[in-house]
Amino acid sequence: MRLRCPFCGRTYSSLIPPTCSCGEPLTIKYDYESVDTSGWEHRRRGVWRYRELLPDVREIISLHEGGTPLIRAKLGDELGLRVFIKDETRNPTGSFRDRLVTVAVSYGLPHASNGFVVASNGNAAASLAAYAARAGKEAYTVVPKLIEGSKLAQIVAFGAKVIRYGESVDEGISYAEGLAEGRGLYNVTPESNIVGLEGQKTLAFELWEELNPTHVIVPTGSGSNLYSIYKGFSELLRIGAIEEVPKLIAVQAEQCSPIASEVLGVEPKAEPTRALALYVKNPFMKELAVGAVEESGGTAVLVGEDELDLGARLLAREGVFAEYASSVVVPALMELADSGYFERDDRIALVVTSCGLKGMGAEGTGRERFAVGGTKLDILRLLKERSMYGYEIWEALERTLKYQAVYQHLRELEGLGLIAESHRRGRRVYYTLTEKGRRFLDALSL
Ligand SMILES: [Zn+2]
Repeated sequence: MRLRCPFCGRTYSSLIPPTCSCGEPLTIKYDYESVDTSGWEHRRRGVWRYRELLPDVREIISLHEGGTPLIRAKLGDELGLRVFIKDETRNPTGSFRDRLVTVAVSYGLPHASNGFVVASNGNAAASLAAYAARAGKEAYTVVPKLIEGSKLAQIVAFGAKVIRYGESVDEGISYAEGLAEGRGLYNVTPESNIVGLEGQKTLAFELWEELNPTHVIVPTGSGSNLYSIYKGFSELLRIGAIEEVPKLIAVQAEQCSPIASEVLGVEPKAEPTRALALYVKNPFMKELAVGAVEESGGTAVLVGEDELDLGARLLAREGVFAEYASSVVVPALMELADSGYFERDDRIALVVTSCGLKGMGAEGTGRERFAVGGTKLDILRLLKERSMYGYEIWEALERTLKYQAVYQHLRELEGLGLIAESHRRGRRVYYTLTEKGRRFLDALSL
């Protein structure tokens, strides 16, 4: 595949960035006139069923991704609506990112003499780790400091290299680009290379075949899935399979809402959320994602931290175990239903992007996963060596942190049961790692 920038004529054949170096957007297009969808139903379900609308590859690296079940939601019956769950947790590594990675790895294989790179807040990294292993290639994953222990465990189990960089995924993207540059490493990060988005868009094709939805509710972090789904439906429109793109609804956490806030015209926040996979402060695909929502005639919903448990519980009642970042679709549905947004005949799809097993902290409770970040981890590492008192820890941290802040961290770590007072000497209170703290640290430093 060779992509030519329609504005400046520059051509791309290995990595295809979202934006040409002349500043204009790049889009992968196909010979839409010749696409015949009638053959699709005779093929095996999954991403590669739609190969006429995927980049050409010499060899397919597949673990049978896509073709995930569409389940009627009992919740919909209670709301008097037709609601279906697109259960992306059933992908090989437990998330929708397998659709991206099968295409990016298959396409990139000839350019990956020394392996693959991805910057990810977890799911794409775990997926790349699996597919690179399948292809017999190295995988380098750049993940943020705030990441669930279970995702790290998955990445490491497949033998991938882990580079922890930045507090959220935003910082890792340019780091991964630098890492790939000139090293024979193929970068599958969707913000740097849109090839994989072609795989993600197959979710739209499946929804069309099974439901032909009027509304699709999508958990939104980087905006890449939302944009991919939009591209998929736009292509169906282009080839005459549908008459209208369904309304796309972007769901973000109130705590981190750059895309949804733009759609709703409210002030955005960029704080950590317990829906960690949605913690993308400055999404590169913001404009594309906002454009997708607006052009589809959809909307956006903000979900509060206190609604995440409810969302996860209601999905569990359906038999679907989702991570918080996916569970946001449920409170979003309920809010829109409450406000009379839907009509009785609407066909509503909830995209549940990732399995709940992946949203676990090292202890399995999930409580630590968002509470323990950079400084707290440093404190735990210090206390792993020997017990120390507050002032001593503050000095050892060698950073411009207020003394008071160290005490706050100590109190919170104590509250999480990761450290405990070991003894006192005069007015000095010494802290030590608890057994739970030791296991937590061991699981993270894999
Ligand atoms: Zn150009």
